[in-house]
Amino acid sequence: MARMSLKEKLEVLADAAKYDASCASSGTSKRDSRKGGIGSTEGMGICHAYAPDGRCISLLKILLTNYCTFDCHYCINRKSSNVRRARFTVDEVVDLTLGFYRRNYIEGLFLSSGIIASPDYTMEQLVEVARKLREEHGFKGYIHLKTIPDADGDLVRQAGLYADRVSINIEMPTEAGLKRLAPEKSVDRITGSMAGMKEAIVDARDASKRYRKAPRYAPAGQSTQMIIGADSATDGDIITRAAGLYQSYGMRRVYYSAFSPIPDASAVLPLKRPPLMREHRLYQSDWLIRFYGFDPHDIRDAADGGMLPLDIDPKLAWALKFREGFPVDVNRAERERLLRVPGLGVKAVKTILSTRRHRILRLDDVARLTQSVARVRPFIVAADWRPTLLTDRADLRRMLSPPAKQLELFAA
Ligand code: SF4
Repeated sequence: MARMSLKEKLEVLADAAKYDASCASSGTSKRDSRKGGIGSTEGMGICHAYAPDGRCISLLKILLTNYCTFDCHYCINRKSSNVRRARFTVDEVVDLTLGFYRRNYIEGLFLSSGIIASPDYTMEQLVEVARKLREEHGFKGYIHLKTIPDADGDLVRQAGLYADRVSINIEMPTEAGLKRLAPEKSVDRITGSMAGMKEAIVDARDASKRYRKAPRYAPAGQSTQMIIGADSATDGDIITRAAGLYQSYGMRRVYYSAFSPIPDASAVLPLKRPPLMREHRLYQSDWLIRFYGFDPHDIRDAADGGMLPLDIDPKLAWALKFREGFPVDVNRAERERLLRVPGLGVKAVKTILSTRRHRILRLDDVARLTQSVARVRPFIVAADWRPTLLTDRADLRRMLSPPAKQLELFAA
């Protein structure tokens, strides 16, 4: 086989990494400037992530290799897939990262890999890239390492010594889904790895409180990714699983990646990808669980037959089903109840709570805190506003649903 140039390897291994959603954005239309114009929404190679201090940073996003000894049905890099393969050496990844960093193209590295030789060997190589960057080159940029859950626990934990964030993909929302679509993977090994990482992160945090010079350890915590739409798991199943992962393993983020049909796909996969709006509704539900005091039962309650409606957001879906809990008095209700009002975000609720200490709130005051007061009105009482029969109107859902969009005739 002809030797590949570094540029060719980069083309293959940046493209192979684009399927990982852990730092990617999706949901936009396809635009590509290769045949003219400038800019592209389909690019690969550089992705964006949020650093622990909230900055948005650009990362070189690549695989160490797309060779893999596993055969996960949903993955383009699986053993039986007919894709072009490449493999970087550790030093090539280190040099590329430093070169791009010095040219100011990137502020960090997102590195994942197919499994070569053995999970331990692959994990060693990933850790070695991060170690060399930090210890031999003094690299201070952001590093996100994907770990290999089947690798030895000590090796996986070493990743946290050099990486800002580590991630271990749960892959499927249910154990049955994982068995069917990634038969070589095991839920127990994946969650065992997450538990080990959580313990190491907690220990390091304790140490940093006690000793000023305690080494940094995965300061951006751990995250995971779930593929949605490749198996029969419902939105209720997915959110229940995600809530368990946040609670049990201290996940910073669970990413939901709408399964996208891959070239040369396995016959056990669906032919069509789920609507991207489904991914969006799951992110909204995830937000409700993390910041709005919802629990997975609430999300299940908001869903019909386990699936969230696509035309309205999950908070509105829940409020419409439980109208007996509304309207909520913005001048008296406690924070938890205000957070349930569709159209009121965490910041708006904070402002309501602080403002009402000094004066009584009117509908206009609330209108200034929301994008659409029409969405809020049926669910609140203010000094000069009471919705009377509006909350219980049979056509309230229709009134609050965004108007259906005319489909573009020539859309891709
Ligand atoms: S182990 Fe990872 S790279 Fe290999 S086939 Fe499975 S998902 Fe793809």
